[in-house]
Amino acid sequence: MGNIPSREAAIHMQTGRRLPITLVRGEGTRVWDDEGNEYLDFIAGIASDTLGHADPGLADVIAEQARTLIHVSNIFYSEPQIELGEWLVEHSCLDRVFFANSGAEANEAAIKLARKWGIQNRDGAYEIIAADDGFHGRTLTTVAATGTPAYREPFGPSTPGFVFVPYNDMDAIRAATTGQTAAIMLEPIQGEGGVNVPDPDYLQAVRAWCDEQGILLMLDEIQTGIGRTGTIWAYEQAGVEPDIMTSAKGIAGGVPLGAVLAKEHASIFEPGDHGSTFGGNPLATAAGAYVTKQLTEGGVLENAKARGEQLSQRLAGLVDRHPLAIGEDGGGLLRRLELAEDVSGDIVTKAREHGLLLNPVRPNRVRFMPPLNVTAAEIDQAVDIVEAALTEVASG
Ligand SMILES: *Cc1c(COP(=O)(O)O)cnc(C)c1O
Repeated sequence: MGNIPSREAAIHMQTGRRLPITLVRGEGTRVWDDEGNEYLDFIAGIASDTLGHADPGLADVIAEQARTLIHVSNIFYSEPQIELGEWLVEHSCLDRVFFANSGAEANEAAIKLARKWGIQNRDGAYEIIAADDGFHGRTLTTVAATGTPAYREPFGPSTPGFVFVPYNDMDAIRAATTGQTAAIMLEPIQGEGGVNVPDPDYLQAVRAWCDEQGILLMLDEIQTGIGRTGTIWAYEQAGVEPDIMTSAKGIAGGVPLGAVLAKEHASIFEPGDHGSTFGGNPLATAAGAYVTKQLTEGGVLENAKARGEQLSQRLAGLVDRHPLAIGEDGGGLLRRLELAEDVSGDIVTKAREHGLLLNPVRPNRVRFMPPLNVTAAEIDQAVDIVEAALTEVASG
């Protein structure tokens, strides 16, 4: 086999830093590296492994579908695609779906939809208001929509038409809205931006503003959807309905899949407008149909809600006891622990040494996103490890 990191360094484009471990196997919330070390996985493929690792039911569905039909073109109907599409429409306020392969692709489709809607309904308006610290993907147009200049500036002229405002600032949205505005695109909770939870009335105010101005509300639920924040969609807790919504990450339990959903009035693609070779293929949508069914019928959503409350309470306990931990926030099983100093990398390294995988989403914030079927005992074990890491880092 040779040394995996050096083989990687020899041939891969170095687009990001990797942790110095090679994971070879998983089961539920646990994963093992090639040296046999066991870890609790509170990264879960970046909030994607909804049912944890090697879920037997999901593995059976994927194997069975692979033996039956992996892929056909979207010029044919396929049953798993209809099944998952029906679940999504039934369990959301949206009316129609298009399947892509990833979050960025789903957002690309959503942006195309909003552009076409602006041309047809608002005199050619094409601007989309997006938020600082938002994250919508890494393709050229989705980085143009992403409020982190470093992600787009190395690549020359961006797709025009994106206007940025501070997140959770309604006045800034009002000031940025012009006759050229077609839509407002936001995450209900910003994930990559540091698990930023807006004020409870923010999205309602944005929704009211969109109605008043006759523009679209686009919610990127790629990280927050599919039960991650304790309800199927985060917008349910905000008490709003988007016109366009995107989903990906957890939708097929780690199998690549994305979806854009729209209300009937915003669902204006016509034959020839958009397409994808693999988007929604039978393998991916069979996985998605199984994962979503487990969410609503297999008790996974209830578990995510209960475990999210448990994690929140236990992290709040750390904030009470440890001067280094100064706050916790989030929704369901997408949470953050805020630190008094920029030591999230140290905390994450210590936690890993104790067998817990975490993400340092900001220099002073640690992000938690375990599988949605994580157990109560695993939550307790993880927080105990974080407590030990806090003590070790605080004592230098
Ligand atoms: C991860 C993420 C994306 C991009 O998804 P990819 O599958 O990596 O392309 C877009 N929006 C949000 C909110 C995300 O968390």
